[in-house]
Amino acid sequence: MSAEDLAFRNEVRAFLAEKLTPEMRAASARQAGVFADAGLNRVWHRILHERGWIAPSWPAEYGGPGWTPTQRHIFADECARSQAPVIPAMGLQMCGPVLMTYGTPQQKAFFLPRMLSGEHYWCQGFSEPGSGSDLASLQTRAVRDGDDYVVNGSKIWTTHAQFANWMFLLVRTATEGKPQAGISFLLTPMDAPGVTVRPIISMSGEHEVNQVFFDDVRIPVANRVGQENQGWTVAKALLVFERGGGVAASRLTRQVNDARRVAQQPDATGSSLWDSCPEFRRRLLEVEMQVKALDFKERQVAAMLSAGQDIGDGAASVLKMTVSRLGQLATELATEALGIDAWADPRGPLDGGENDAWADHAATLTAKYLNNRAATIFGGSQEVQHNIVAKAVLGL
Ligand SMILES: Cc1cc2nc3c(=O)[nH]c(=O)nc-3n(C[C@H](O)[C@H](O)[C@H](O)COP(=O)(O)OP(=O)(O)OC[C@H]3O[C@@H](n4cnc5c(N)ncnc54)[C@H](O)[C@@H]3O)c2cc1C
Repeated sequence: MSAEDLAFRNEVRAFLAEKLTPEMRAASARQAGVFADAGLNRVWHRILHERGWIAPSWPAEYGGPGWTPTQRHIFADECARSQAPVIPAMGLQMCGPVLMTYGTPQQKAFFLPRMLSGEHYWCQGFSEPGSGSDLASLQTRAVRDGDDYVVNGSKIWTTHAQFANWMFLLVRTATEGKPQAGISFLLTPMDAPGVTVRPIISMSGEHEVNQVFFDDVRIPVANRVGQENQGWTVAKALLVFERGGGVAASRLTRQVNDARRVAQQPDATGSSLWDSCPEFRRRLLEVEMQVKALDFKERQVAAMLSAGQDIGDGAASVLKMTVSRLGQLATELATEALGIDAWADPRGPLDGGENDAWADHAATLTAKYLNNRAATIFGGSQEVQHNIVAKAVLGL
């Protein structure tokens, strides 16, 4: 890191130390889902917004801090290290950049400041019951009627639709020709008449995703982003933002350390899994080494982006696969280390943990373990990423 980068890191550290209360860190540590829930998010969003740091990747002209990719990496890294709540990506990281490129001046002027302030909370309406990996087969229909589209159909797995007041969605506006050529990209308020949100409770017991129904919902044509039937181009740009370069190594390091801490805790006889099971130690250290390699790669990617180089589809897919799989392995190890007696609270308080009881810790870890199964599905499944690498890297 350059002297400027080190000074920037110190500034970020000082800010986080001042603003992130122990209660917020603890609440964030207990969060099993991908993003902070609405209450925690609201508080942290406001603090970052006041500091001008809520949209690290936005250019200064739209209200971003104008950071270099290296500064963005440092910021994300420090946030992950200090267990800052994870701000939902749907608005600031997905819809915002898309509007900057494809939105009309009116759309930019209306939506971007409200995204920054947190007044608008977004969800993503792409997947449908019959269309996930094969997204272009989507069936939610939009029929033009005067200055509106009338929309009928259903979206599924919609993260945080229960909190969102706006959704960006893909709809079918033409049925002839290639499926990709008949899709449009719309923006709708969630309180429009005819929108119904039905919760889907995941196996960890959480309410993170939903099914959303559209019954004769009127969406103004003015809320279309890009030309009619050209929504696929807009959607592809958005998916690049969804998949592209994050910072996961710090979060994963913490998860591996969690697993080690649990494994090192002695039981009633004074023995611990860490001492008694070399095979467990070997597996944990292997994951730890892979996380260190990922950390190096993520820094390299930040440096490449800073130098204006493109990392390419293949690299983004490899990173996505690596991050999802390592996250699953880390929570597998942590859950295994807990053992079946964790629920009976036999080992007393857990030293240095955010949660003071094993049962509490076990509940959080188990929820994280279960939730993490979805990491190799959302944002493009593992198999679909392999297909991308086969094409982009191997030329198959
Ligand atoms: C927790 C969670 C949150 C989500 N949040 C959102 C959201 O906010 N908004 C949204 O729009 N969507 C969201 N999704 C949906 C997600 O994008 C889809 O689940 C994903 O694209 C996979 O689609 P599918 O579930 O229909 O599975 P399918 O596409 O039916 O896939 C089933 C299986 O077949 C495999 N497969 C499919 N095609 C191929 C192929 N060509 N080659 C090899 N194997 C293949 C897949 O890898 C998978 O194993 C979320 C999903 C989850 C689990």
